[in-house]
Amino acid sequence: MKQAMLAGLIALMVGAGAAAAATTWETGGKTMGTWYQVKVAYTPDQALDGLKNEIEQGLAQDNTLLSTWRPDSTLSRFNGYAGTQAQPIPEGMALVIRTALQVAEKTQGAMDITVGPLVNLWGFGPGGVPTHTPDAAAIAAARQQVGWRHLHLSERDGKAWLQKDLPSLYVDLSTVGEGYAADRLAALMARHGITNYLVSVGGAVVTRGKSASGQPWKVAIQQPTDKQTRIEAIVDLQGHGISTAGSYRNYYQRDGRRLSHIIDPASGQPISHHLVSATVIANTALQADAWDTGLMVLGPERAKALALREGLAVYLIIASDNGFISWQSPAFARYLVGATAH
Ligand code: FAD
Repeated sequence: MKQAMLAGLIALMVGAGAAAAATTWETGGKTMGTWYQVKVAYTPDQALDGLKNEIEQGLAQDNTLLSTWRPDSTLSRFNGYAGTQAQPIPEGMALVIRTALQVAEKTQGAMDITVGPLVNLWGFGPGGVPTHTPDAAAIAAARQQVGWRHLHLSERDGKAWLQKDLPSLYVDLSTVGEGYAADRLAALMARHGITNYLVSVGGAVVTRGKSASGQPWKVAIQQPTDKQTRIEAIVDLQGHGISTAGSYRNYYQRDGRRLSHIIDPASGQPISHHLVSATVIANTALQADAWDTGLMVLGPERAKALALREGLAVYLIIASDNGFISWQSPAFARYLVGATAH
């Protein structure tokens, strides 16, 4: 179920049957409440011993760093600290927060990693779905606890420091943690001298080089339906990261409304416009993962304007009375290798 909710992208095996100079080594499993996948096109002279262990250890470290689902994670300890003194944080966490705050600024707070109290209130955090729709007073109270400008990242003595000026501020890195983890898997491949790979964590993917068939890896953006197999577009990432955010899989129905896990911090409510999927390709999966949620919150017209202004590679899918309409920014075109006509 969780996989069905989270994956917006699929790795495509291309060129099956072509004369292959390499073989595919493949592994995957559960992490962070979602799934990871690693595919390596390798030649017999490459030793991959111990790689699976290192992958799983790396993912476990990321989880121990960034999870709000684990009370003992570094992030949960920061959230549990009810003071306003700056706290030293590991560089990996600083990188994630720095990227998230940059995108928060550019999206005027549509992407906000302090939105956790609202995420939890609407039932998309560790506490599960509430029995009643939150009322205006509960939403207003949660909104008092939200605001990325209450979070301050600085550097001193060669260390990163994180400070909140609201003691109860709750940082939720769910929207960016998968991208960070995918980039770390890519870095692990590089450390092993592996140059042909595809790695994914949830809806964040990085590819480098070619698949075992000798063709560039291809990644499919799924159509925003409950069916996992319908393909909307196919891209060749050319060594970049990609991430998709969508409102169509992680939701529940309540009082005649379809409530999405993406929350608009400005209203305190789940988004309710017609943008159903936003895909971003960026230098890193972390950057792509930060942008996609921000664009989802902004809705179709503001997302398009921001993508054009920032030169982002973006593919949007918008629901209309006549089915889905897709839109791509000019920067996206260089990655596109196939698309479904609407
Ligand atoms: P994305 O679109 O990437 O992000 C949506 C999520 O971001 C929402 O679910 C919400 O949490 C948050 N969000 C909503 N609105 C905003 C906004 N305006 N600005 C910023 N963020 C917003 N899930 C489990 O079920 N069990 C686990 O044990 C678990 N552990 C995790 C550990 C880590 C380190 C991380 C990063 C995530 C974990 N998750 C866990 C969450 C899960 O795997 C997904 O990350 C999460 O459901 C969102 O992923 P997504 O790609 O669907 O959505």
